[in-house]
Amino acid sequence: MPSSVLLTELDRPELEAALAERGYERFRARQVFHWLYRRGVVDAEAMTDLPRQLRATLAADFTLLTPGIAGRERSADGTEKFLLRLADGRHIESVFIPDTPAQTFCVSTQVGCAMACAFCLTGKMGLVRHLSAGEIVAQVRVLAGILDLRDKAFNVVLMGMGEPLHNYDETMKALRIMADEHGFALPMRRVTLSTVGLLPALERLAQEPLMPNLAISLHAPTDAQRGGLVPINAKYGVADVIEACKRFPVRKRSRITFEYVLLAGVNDSSEDARRLAALLEGVKSKVNLIPLNAAAGIPFERPTDAAVNRFAKTLADRGVTVSVRKSRGRDIRAACGQLIVEGRRTSPGQQLAEALPG
Ligand code: SAH
Repeated sequence: MPSSVLLTELDRPELEAALAERGYERFRARQVFHWLYRRGVVDAEAMTDLPRQLRATLAADFTLLTPGIAGRERSADGTEKFLLRLADGRHIESVFIPDTPAQTFCVSTQVGCAMACAFCLTGKMGLVRHLSAGEIVAQVRVLAGILDLRDKAFNVVLMGMGEPLHNYDETMKALRIMADEHGFALPMRRVTLSTVGLLPALERLAQEPLMPNLAISLHAPTDAQRGGLVPINAKYGVADVIEACKRFPVRKRSRITFEYVLLAGVNDSSEDARRLAALLEGVKSKVNLIPLNAAAGIPFERPTDAAVNRFAKTLADRGVTVSVRKSRGRDIRAACGQLIVEGRRTSPGQQLAEALPG
């Protein structure tokens, strides 16, 4: 028997098995989940409805990692950015976005990111490492604890640092843990997974019993344009991504969100909007326009509000459901594409090469 099991890396069936191995009834796992996620209690001794013997076993055989808070910044609009320190000293950022009208946690799935999108600061870091399922869940555990939202309804968007489908197994396990009825009991309609469109992983996702809402980072209607913004487009091009979306099992009355970062003079013309509308014909879709959050080192500009509105109107006139993302937390660099915490270790090119399967 391993000397120490990482409790927060276990989904409930795994915890049941670990407890059964030690002679405890399986239902004890439900109680432990309730303490950990609903009550925020991490000290076995304080789990007062467990038999004394089980508390001792938990303390002796299991350990638990909770990231520390290394920084916290509050934006004028109420958005809060948390810098979390992981057990190995690496840092990630997680963002709380209040009252949209929902309460939303934007969580990271990797330290850095291998995708190297041309307009994204996290992409400049390269991939440092994947997060474990426990580290993904811990962001919600810590933020919901501090903000006293553990027992309230909240949304989770996998739109922080990293590409969730590049860290597939840990991301899906994190969703299973968060969905567990004895833990956060987070309904999947309250979760959105945003991806650049790694097709083999997207096909896998289509088969999952647990199905979050899907957002696709499209950003341009043609391969020529998207290739210059999203390097992985060389492997998974626009037409293939759209085909995969058409096959994707979207829930009744639900749609796939297409995220589209608007870059002045690059992808914001009326022609681009018309092409985008045509591309999305026959896809259960809505478009979320994200005017660029500019930053030093990002070689693009944010279009004017008038240009954004014109683009949105061209789409709407063609029957496309469109919204413009209000970028919250820009004053504390907590908005889309502004999360960055460490220097990169290898070049984006190397990182991408590692990211590509085969
Ligand atoms: N890797 C995933 C998750 C990132 S989600 C994905 O690509 O979908 C963050 C969203 O913000 C993505 O749509 C991303 O393209 C967008 N984004 C990145 N940098 C941005 C910036 N500087 N301004 C606005 N949006 C940005």
